[in-house]
Amino acid sequence: MLSRVLVPLACLLPVSGHTNPANLENVIVINGATIVHPSQNGAAAVEPNATILIQGDRIQIAGTGITLELTQGATIIDGRGKWVVPGLVDAHVHFFQSGNLYTRPDAADFNAIMPYAQEVARNKARLDATFKLWLANGVTGVVDIGGPFWNFDVRDRAAASAAAPRMAVAGPLISMVDRPQLDLGDPPIIRIDSAEAVRALIAREVERNTDYIKVWFVHRPGDDLAAQEAIVKAAGDAAHAAGKRFAVHATELAVAKAALRAGADYLVHSVFDQPVDDEFIALAKKNHVLYCPTLFVVQGYPLALSNQWRATPEELKRADPQILAAMDDLNEISADKRPERIAKMMAVPKMPDPPRVAMENLKKLSDAGITIVMGTDAGNIGTLHGPSIYREMRLMQESGLTPLEVLRSATTNGAKALGLEGKVGAITPGMLADLVILDADPLADTANLARVFRTIKGAVVYDPEKLMESIR
Ligand SMILES: [Zn+2]
Repeated sequence: MLSRVLVPLACLLPVSGHTNPANLENVIVINGATIVHPSQNGAAAVEPNATILIQGDRIQIAGTGITLELTQGATIIDGRGKWVVPGLVDAHVHFFQSGNLYTRPDAADFNAIMPYAQEVARNKARLDATFKLWLANGVTGVVDIGGPFWNFDVRDRAAASAAAPRMAVAGPLISMVDRPQLDLGDPPIIRIDSAEAVRALIAREVERNTDYIKVWFVHRPGDDLAAQEAIVKAAGDAAHAAGKRFAVHATELAVAKAALRAGADYLVHSVFDQPVDDEFIALAKKNHVLYCPTLFVVQGYPLALSNQWRATPEELKRADPQILAAMDDLNEISADKRPERIAKMMAVPKMPDPPRVAMENLKKLSDAGITIVMGTDAGNIGTLHGPSIYREMRLMQESGLTPLEVLRSATTNGAKALGLEGKVGAITPGMLADLVILDADPLADTANLARVFRTIKGAVVYDPEKLMESIR
């Protein structure tokens, strides 16, 4: 055990220039670990046998060949045999949804079993626990990319919490279609048909200092794509005029191109329907777009709704136990109480295929230099807050991305999605101290990102086991 590390004291207090032993109580040293630099390639991406010194809420020192002399007070973490990566970012989550069967009555109406208002009340009451799930899974930043107006209160609550990720949010989605099943008085999705109404809603979101304006660009056969694009462009123009970034849900190639022409800064899903082409790549590059594949969520729904969803080992350890327990509820719901669609899915259970087109598109876009951000769409049915990141990252790796590229999407690029580029997403001096200490090499296999020893956010050290114990 290293209980004593030698440090030139001048390094300790670079601001004040003099030493004060009392300040050592706020010092954390991680000694002997391998630092991973996800923005780098090749040998530059790993720095073995390194020392990290955290003081205040920042990384002060990170590198090799550092000798520190700390006599007392500092917290010393033995990093030998461990890897340190920047805190992960899930760039696509929804706190108004829980991941269970009852959370999207527009997709599967279980109101007879669980009134939707009760489900949403549960999610609100459970926020502090949900925040902890993210930290327990090594996630120190999330983007809630659309929900009711109370999303802005969720961001405030997280900022004031002793154990929560950093958060960026969008308010209600500007939508092409109605979702009356989700309207409890503060709807997450609002159908809007005119540019004037778009600007009015955006003004209300800007008043709450929204981080993103989001459009749910749903295009059905027979819809007038040009007319829809004009509305989306009005939203993009209004967002940009207010200095806000513009996120769009657009899952087909033609619709995603229209979204990019309308100014999208962030495509929150893959193009699922056909291979992306040169025109798409050129538009994406022109906008410097962030592209979030969300590969697992399209399997999560059919798995859960056909009663074939099974928890992964990571979910058994670090998902919300309340939600885990509810994932088997279809066994308890008698056949006559199951929504018709569910009864049909259960009658002929079929394993959903991985989204192959989207996976090929991910590889092609990554190789083309498009900025990929990891995001799960957590909260949707079958996609649980926290450990669903491992399902998502596994699919990204299976798409042909290297573990380093997957990690980059969740750190370097995740910082961009959070709006915190240059503040988080790297283990370098001056950055906020958001990092994860791992028991296994994340560059050997993304699955090793589940081997969380400690999560540190804003220089607070969290033990995943203790976080999970605190919410049972
Ligand atoms: Zn979503």
